[in-house]
Amino acid sequence: MRLNYRSLPALAAAILAAGVVSCGRDTSAGDGRPLVVATTTMAADLVREIGGDRLDVRGLMGPDVDPHSYIPRIGDSRLLERADLVVFNGHHLEGRLQRTLEEMSGRGRRVVALAETLDPSQLIAAAEDFPGALDPHIWGDPMLWAAVIDPLADALATIDPEGAGVFRERAASYRAELETLDAWARETLGEIPAGQRVLVTSHDAFHYLGNAYDLEVRGLQGVSSASEAGLRDRRDLVAFLRESGIPAVFPESTINPKALETVAQEAGVRISDRTLYSDALGKPGDTFTLDGKTHDRGTYTGMMRHNIHTIATELNP
Ligand SMILES: [Zn+2]
Repeated sequence: MRLNYRSLPALAAAILAAGVVSCGRDTSAGDGRPLVVATTTMAADLVREIGGDRLDVRGLMGPDVDPHSYIPRIGDSRLLERADLVVFNGHHLEGRLQRTLEEMSGRGRRVVALAETLDPSQLIAAAEDFPGALDPHIWGDPMLWAAVIDPLADALATIDPEGAGVFRERAASYRAELETLDAWARETLGEIPAGQRVLVTSHDAFHYLGNAYDLEVRGLQGVSSASEAGLRDRRDLVAFLRESGIPAVFPESTINPKALETVAQEAGVRISDRTLYSDALGKPGDTFTLDGKTHDRGTYTGMMRHNIHTIATELNP
C-alpha cells in the first residue's frame, strides 16, 4: 500500500480556502431536519437506510468517484461546516479529506468514522510496507458493514434524540436485510469450483469480501488506488494469471481499467465486460432483475448483489 499523507496539509488548506472564496454549490436553505453529510456513496446510503426521512442526508462523492483521490469541491467545506453530523468511512479511505475531517472532530464537531468504530482486531492489515495501517474497504463483507449500524444509529440519536426509537427499529430491519444478503452471497459464491476462486481486480478493494466468502483476492495496485502499479507487480500478476487458469479478471467502477487490460492481454485472460463496483455505488435508478426481484445498483444491497452475481457467473462460466 502506498497511501500518501504528504499532500494532506495543502489539501486541507485548499478545502478551507474553497469555502472562503465561494458560496459553493449548496444553495438550499435546508428544511429544518438535522443535516447529515456523508462522504462516500456507501456511507450516504447507510445513513439514509437508518435515518429514513427524519434526516436531510447529503453525499459529497457521487457514483464512479474514487474516494482515495477525491479532491474536495467548491462548496464541500461550507456543507461540512453546516452539518449537524459528518459521517465518513475512515482508516484513510478518504485520503485527501481525512485530515480535514479529523480537524473537525478536534474542534468538537460531531463526526463518525464508520470503519473506526470497529475493533481493529476485526480488520485486515493494509500491507506490510505500511505498518499499523488497516484496510478501509469494510463494506465488502456485509456482516462487517452490519457491525457499524449500531454506532451510526447512536450517533444519529445524538442529533435527533426523538428519532432514537425509529433509528433502532430501522437498524434492526436493515441488519436483517444484510443477513439475508450475506446468506445469499455465501450460497452463490460457494458454487465456484476450488481452482477458480480467485478475484483479480485493479486495486485491493475486495479483501473483506474474499475473507467472508473464501476467495483469494489479487489487486494490481494495492489498497490505495493512488499509486501506479509497479513493473514487478505487473510481471508477478501476469505470471500468476498464466499459471492459475482462472477464467476472467474484473475492471472496477472507480478505476481506469487500462493497466488491468494490459495485464490481461499479456496473460491471455479475458477481462470481464461487467464492471465491479469497488469504492462507490452505481448510479441511483440503475436497476437489474435477479431471480424475479429488481435491485438498484445505486444502493448498497443492489451493488453487492450485482458484484456477487457477476463474480459468481464469470468465475464459473
Ligand atoms: Zn479502494
